[in-house]
Parts: sequence; structure tokens; C-alpha cells
Amino acid sequence: MHHFNYIDKELYCEQVPVSKVAREVGTPLYLYSHATLLRHFRAFDGAFSGVKHLTCFSIKVNSNLAILRLFVREGGGGDIVSGGELYRALKAGMEPGKIVYSGVGKRVEGLEYALKSGILMFNVESIQEILKLNEVAGKMGKKARMAIRVNPDVDPKTHPYISTGLKENKFGIDISEAPEQYTVAAGLKNLKVSGVSCHIGSQLTEISPFIDTLRKLKKLIRRLGQSGMQIDYLDLGGGLGITYDREEPPHPKEYARAIKEEIKMEDLTLILEPGRVITGNAGILVTKVLYTKHATEKTFLIVDAAMNDLIRPSLYNSYHGIQPVKISGREKIKADIVGPICESADFLAKERYVEPHEPGELMAIMSAGAYGFSMSSNYNSRPRACEVMVKGDRFYIIRKRETFKDLVKGEMIPDFLS
Ligand SMILES: *Cc1c(COP(=O)(O)O)cnc(C)c1O
Repeated sequence: MHHFNYIDKELYCEQVPVSKVAREVGTPLYLYSHATLLRHFRAFDGAFSGVKHLTCFSIKVNSNLAILRLFVREGGGGDIVSGGELYRALKAGMEPGKIVYSGVGKRVEGLEYALKSGILMFNVESIQEILKLNEVAGKMGKKARMAIRVNPDVDPKTHPYISTGLKENKFGIDISEAPEQYTVAAGLKNLKVSGVSCHIGSQLTEISPFIDTLRKLKKLIRRLGQSGMQIDYLDLGGGLGITYDREEPPHPKEYARAIKEEIKMEDLTLILEPGRVITGNAGILVTKVLYTKHATEKTFLIVDAAMNDLIRPSLYNSYHGIQPVKISGREKIKADIVGPICESADFLAKERYVEPHEPGELMAIMSAGAYGFSMSSNYNSRPRACEVMVKGDRFYIIRKRETFKDLVKGEMIPDFLS
């Protein structure tokens, strides 16, 4: 469910014509629907009502301050993976006590910043990190609340690049080794063992891998309890999938019901780290067609958005719906939608049946609200796109389009070249 709909053959975001925003701010442009963001956050968070829980939005998925602020106002917390994300979370007004810190390669500066800020919990991913966190906390005279991110060896049945809970993945500590490493952590003066965490992958379309994981974690928690370790938090990570094409992921309600059923007897606070499921279908990428090229084998629609704006098709071969901003009714053609970047991997869609577009006509790349702008870059010296939020019949720029000047910010020509 989202608020991108046609009225009289014209695509609207809530009550605003998409073409109107494009005319005023230019393209390429990320467009988010406030009502959709809110609805998705509430649907997810609300599905867990009745159990002690904290919804920690995964900040890497969409880290715009305005979007983070919207979730903060709904009582949301955050899952961060870097010092930079902590900075954003705090800037957006997020309570430090609702922030958890994941990631395999946390830097000392990141650990210090998070300790100073008083975040809720560190999800540590290796024995060396356990020792480092203890050392850093000791130097600062602090006690760090921590969980071990366990790798439960469960197959999330998703794309290999976004699967994280298999033995061969770099993430977490093997669940069979976790008890031993928890014992090490519990013996360290500056650590407080508080939780067990995991995150098995992204774009999951079945509930069973989550439940298999949860059962393994419950067993671990029981075992730790027997060794005298009190676990207060069970962090189940993120990963719930969305519909890009024809996937049929479970509704957050079903997902929550299955989880609640498993933990109803436990005295734990559940932490959830949703990302994609909240913002994915709340944003689109609007682009302008520059040229159409009929090559011998294929037809290419060359647009002004590219892999630097949205890398998911190039990186994971992922599917994004392509829709006209104005339905022309012209007979559809089979085409590749490609960007201007000098890479053959620069495509947004392949072999799609789309209406032919004249130069200057607009196209919407659907489901671009997650891992879209946040993964964008300046490759080919392309200023990053503008981000806009629509609320009702108004729209608000939430990130200005970058300028050429922004592109060279921080670069310097040394004296010997002058
Ligand atoms: C990326 C990530 C998430 C969010 O995953 P989604 O599939 O977008 O819900 C949650 N937790 C951790 C640790 C992550 O790395």
C-alpha cells in the first residue's frame, strides 16, 4: 500500500502531481510520500503492540534527517552501523537510549562516540571487538551494554549479496561459539552483557527463517541464563521483504504474530531493526527521458538517472517497476532503461515493456525509498539528486540537489602543482 496513484492518467504522490515537483526542482529526483512512511512505520510498530519492544529503524536504508525525524516523532529508535549514522540519528533528535550499534568493523572513534552518547547497546561481531569495546569503555570510565550478534546459520532464501546469517557470511559470531564468547564478555569489567542479537538477511519473503532463528536464540538465552547471565534484550534484526514485482512477503502483522507467539512466555524486550519494509515503497525516483536509441538488437531509453543514483539494479540485478508519469496510451515497446554513465552495468531495468517516451517526458522508478539515495554516489561527477517529501497537497525539499561546487568540496591542488 502506498500513495503513488494515477488520477486522469497523471501520476500523483498523495495530492501532488509528480510532474509538478519535477518541473520545480528538476530531475533526477527522489520523491517520498509522508503518509506512506507514517503508515508503514505505524503498521510495523503497531503490529508488536502488547509486547515490550523497540522499533529501531535501520538508518543505512534511508538516512535523510527529515525521514529519521518522522520516525523519532513516532517513538522510533535507530540501528546504526557507523559514527556518521550516529551523528545523523542524534541530529534528527533520536534518543540515545533507543539506538543500537551493529556492524563488523566498528572503529575506535565510533565506539567512543557511541559510549559518550550513551546508546542502548552494542551488537558486537567478533572476539577482538569484544576486547576492544571493553578497553575503550574502561578508558572512558564507562560500562558498555552489549549483545553478541550471533550468526545462526539459517538460510534466509534471498539474494546472496543480502544474505547475512549463513556460516559463510562475514557477519556475527557463530552461534555454536557464542556461549564461550559470552563467558569471556561477562568476565570483563567494562562490559555489561545485556542482549542477544542477529540479522539474517534482507528482502525475506517467508516467515520461517525468522522463526527458526528465534528458536535458536531462545535456546541460547536459556543457556546463558543457566550460566548466570541475565539477558534483557532480544534483537531480531530487520529483513522483512516488500513487493517490487510479484513477491508476496508476509504482512508485518503476520510476521509480528508469529514472533509474539514465540516469545510470549519470555521476559524480554524485543528489538526490531526494520528498514526496507518501512521506506521501500514510500519513495520513487523520478527521471527524464533524454533519448531513445534503436540499436540492432535492442531499444534503449536513455534517462537522466543512473547507477550512481540507484545502484540496486547494477549491484543485485534487482527489479524496480517502471511507470510513466503521464500515461500516453502509446503502444508499448520492449526496451532497456539505461543511464548516462560509462558502464554497461548502468541500467535501471532490462527488457521491459514500456510506453515509448519522447525526449523530456518523465518516468518513475518505483520502490526506490530503501537503499536508494543512501547508496548513491558521485560517480562520473554527477551531483547527487534532490530529495523531496510530499505531505498532502504540499511538497518540501528535504535535501537540495548537489551542485558542481559540492563535487569538488574538500579537494586541493598542492603547491608543487601550482
Ligand atoms: C541492513 C540492516 C538492517 C535492515 O535490513 P532490512 O532488510 O532493510 O530490513 C537491520 N539490521 C542490520 C544489522 C542491518 O545491517
